[in-house]
Amino acid sequence: MTVADNATNNYDNTINIINEINNRNIICSNNEVNNLGELNNNEDINNTILNSNNSLNHNNKMSINNGEINNKTNVNSSYELNNDTCTNNYITTIKEDNKINKYDVVLTGDRPTGCLHLGHYIGSLQNRVILQDQINDKKKCFVFIADVQGLSDNFATPEKVKKNVVEVCKDYISVGLDPTKSTIFIQSLIPELFELTVYYMNLITVSRLERCPTVKAELQTKSFSNSVPSGFLNYPVSQAADITAFKATAIPVGEDQKPVLEISNEIVNRFNNTYNTNILKECKAILSNVPRLVGIDGLAKASKSLGNAIMLCDDSDTIKKKVFSMYTDPNHINISDPGTVEGNVVFTYLDAFYDNKEEVEDLKKQYRKGGLGDVYLKDLLYKTLEEKLTPIREKRLSLNEDYIYSVLLEGSKEAREVAKQTLMEVREAIGIVY
Ligand code: ATP
Ligand code: MG
Repeated sequence: MTVADNATNNYDNTINIINEINNRNIICSNNEVNNLGELNNNEDINNTILNSNNSLNHNNKMSINNGEINNKTNVNSSYELNNDTCTNNYITTIKEDNKINKYDVVLTGDRPTGCLHLGHYIGSLQNRVILQDQINDKKKCFVFIADVQGLSDNFATPEKVKKNVVEVCKDYISVGLDPTKSTIFIQSLIPELFELTVYYMNLITVSRLERCPTVKAELQTKSFSNSVPSGFLNYPVSQAADITAFKATAIPVGEDQKPVLEISNEIVNRFNNTYNTNILKECKAILSNVPRLVGIDGLAKASKSLGNAIMLCDDSDTIKKKVFSMYTDPNHINISDPGTVEGNVVFTYLDAFYDNKEEVEDLKKQYRKGGLGDVYLKDLLYKTLEEKLTPIREKRLSLNEDYIYSVLLEGSKEAREVAKQTLMEVREAIGIVY
């Protein structure tokens, strides 16, 4: 069997007309595969993914043209719990220009610096769940917990990092990441990543790292002053190692990570040119329709480290408190006063999470005109978030630590095999095999 045959078969699996694996039925229509193994289809394929055992379900519309999976913007996607306790409707979040094809390998990760929040959810987690279901191949979907990267600005509190490895993995499983479809692993259990990092450090200058807008912005929020740890400055290089070790090409991330991915691609090109090879692959960012969710303070992006986020594990009271403390229009004092929508965090979150977009537009009109109170809007937002987060919170509570570690250790074992192979190829390309 050739590599192309393999790819076709894998792809067939992803879009199988009726595929019953793990209680999932994936129903597609109107698709055919040509001799090159490419899927030719100008018509939509309707995927209906149903699940019966307490995990999230979605109905997800996409079109597939010449081997490219192309999710349409603003296509309705509904996730529901089959025990009939709750139904959530979400907007499919992969942007139209974010195409993946059957050869793409998906990888992404999070720092275990706290539990995950709504920014992760809308910016990256939802896309990961969609992609893992579309690809349906563990060897092409990697999600990792970047504990070593987490240490770069938390080196003095390693216990915090270790504790949050478990919390982040619980968040993954709670939102629908499935260890049978995604390889979930811990960064520090793959030592090959750190050897790759060292080779790549030679291929990028310190000033290029200092100029990276993401690193610059992050440095401003840390209290390093003039003592920036070189490990922190170097994290984009370590991220390049994470990506290339798995030959990952599609990276579902928030907008803040785009400049970091650019550095990764620069390293890839420098490596391939320097060592006259093509073993490393460039990657692209898969952005959602909300690639940067602002924090409840309205000042910076929602972030674990800034304490300005609604966490996926927050209880009902905490969500309410956070919503009611959100930044709105400070000049909107009386209900009858005209208010400003732009920069008003409650509207930003309603735009992101309230399913009826027309209703939000009507509310905006009313708010601008005057006659709509902040309390009404905050209550609406609180109820919306509560409805979305309740099933996630309940799923979370059902997960125990032993299970989480078994997922992570098994995933790390599998991931390590892939990284070992790439490291061998990298050493051969450099010419340091003894
Ligand atoms: P920290 O404050 O420790 O840096 P964080 O909240 O920024 O934590 P990360 O672990 O650094 O989270 O980021 C993980 C992924 O989530 C990245 O792809 C990042 O782009 C995305 N992400 C983080 N915050 C947001 C946000 N507010 N909106 C959209 N995407 C986000
Ligand atoms: Mg961050």
